[in-house]
Amino acid sequence: YNSSLFRRKNRPMNASTKAYEELLIRLKNTALLASCSAVLEWDEQTYLPPEGAEHRANQLALLAGMVHEQATNPEIGNLLLELESNSSSIDDVFEQANIREARHEYDRATKLPRRLVEELSRVATLSHHAWVQARKNNRFKDFLPWLEQMIDLKREQASATGYQGKNAYDALLDEYEPGATSEMIEQAFIPLRNELVSLVSAIKNSGVTPDTSILTRKYPVEKQREFSVSAAEAIGFRFDAGRLDIAAHPFCSGIGPGDCRLTTRYDEHHFPGAFFGTLHEAGHGIYEQGLCKEHFGTPLGSSTSLGIHESQSRMWENLVGRSHAFWDYFYRPAQKLFPEALGNVDQGAFYRAINDVRPSFIRVEADEVTYNLHIMLRFELEKALISGDLKPADLEAAWNEIFFEYFGITPDTSANGCLQDVHWSAGLIGYFPTYALGNMYAAQFFIAAEKELGDLSQLIARGEFVPLKEWLNQNIHQRGKLFRANRLVEVVAGESLSHEPLIAQLQNKYSELYNL
Ligand code: ZN
Repeated sequence: YNSSLFRRKNRPMNASTKAYEELLIRLKNTALLASCSAVLEWDEQTYLPPEGAEHRANQLALLAGMVHEQATNPEIGNLLLELESNSSSIDDVFEQANIREARHEYDRATKLPRRLVEELSRVATLSHHAWVQARKNNRFKDFLPWLEQMIDLKREQASATGYQGKNAYDALLDEYEPGATSEMIEQAFIPLRNELVSLVSAIKNSGVTPDTSILTRKYPVEKQREFSVSAAEAIGFRFDAGRLDIAAHPFCSGIGPGDCRLTTRYDEHHFPGAFFGTLHEAGHGIYEQGLCKEHFGTPLGSSTSLGIHESQSRMWENLVGRSHAFWDYFYRPAQKLFPEALGNVDQGAFYRAINDVRPSFIRVEADEVTYNLHIMLRFELEKALISGDLKPADLEAAWNEIFFEYFGITPDTSANGCLQDVHWSAGLIGYFPTYALGNMYAAQFFIAAEKELGDLSQLIARGEFVPLKEWLNQNIHQRGKLFRANRLVEVVAGESLSHEPLIAQLQNKYSELYNL
């Protein structure tokens, strides 16, 4: 595979090449405008003084309206029709992919009536505010009327955009994971859940409890930053084309070619938060930095799905960052930087502490074994909310019941239960499954990479991260949206989505850690 394949062959300009060039210009201009709001959003999360929030909201609303107008310009529809009627003369798979995905995005954008787009945005802002208060006061009841409105609007959105089959939920899922269906996800989730529930209970009954208190000793913030930056740099995130700043809710924003912003947050008495958070966001960032510059703004220069995006962050965070080999390389520098906290801790004890597994209420703090169960719970519930099988008023009871079934514990408060995540208040329904898809894809890609590169733990233990990073660049990043996620994993790993590599990897690692 070679990115020079992307270069267009020299050939005479006919009507359809002209239409194609025109389409690209329109897509690129829309993306350019959207990337302006990305800068403002990044700034809002990092440096904006509180009093500037209202002015910023006005700026962002104006830009969002302009982006929507450009993205739904009927001229794009005309160009697409022209290209599709000449499709037999387009033999270039890259052009075909750009046209296919541009059509998909154009249809999605134009099928949503402007009134619904505005109503969704208005309710999301108010509902988010209500959620923050309800979570603080631990009162699900206060959030319920907003949840009810949001579910109604999302069902309306699903019927406006349309879907194949019987699940309205699939229309929402498609926004984050194009082409995926709930059926395909269930096929992987059901066996994954059964295996995980028994692994979690075996770990619980093993009698092994790592000493995690070493991770809450004093880790000076400046040193944490220095260490996180050096690790992100080592795995291949480029700081001449990116930054790392502080934000309350860590994220990665690929603003455009040469500019990718990571954020993290530091707690002087919690080592894993900032460190693994930075590795995670750097994994997203390496994907963004690996996209083809010359295709910026078109599907070929964009990430293929959130699930694939998450496979990149999870691979660096967990499969690499929480591996024994990684700390063969990084433990001595860590001890040097944090002599007070780690001076008298051996590498084995540290490795066990960062891989502690135990059922807990909060998703974002969960270990890599229990994490997927948190996702499946949310997937089940949001599917039922959209189908109408579950009334929003019954959400909390349903949450607690399934939580007990999966984890053997019941949330003590609403804030530790169904009110913990921001997603539903913000209208992000259909988003959760992409986290677990990412974990499964990551394990599949990792095996495929080892087939080609040999035992990765040997390379990682020597601090040689370039081969894996370049393999990901070539096999995943540079392809943009050439393939959708389900096809990409077939092309790269030779099999469709599967829970088996992830289960095998977890069983292997944790049998050793917990003497199972
Ligand atoms: Zn992520």
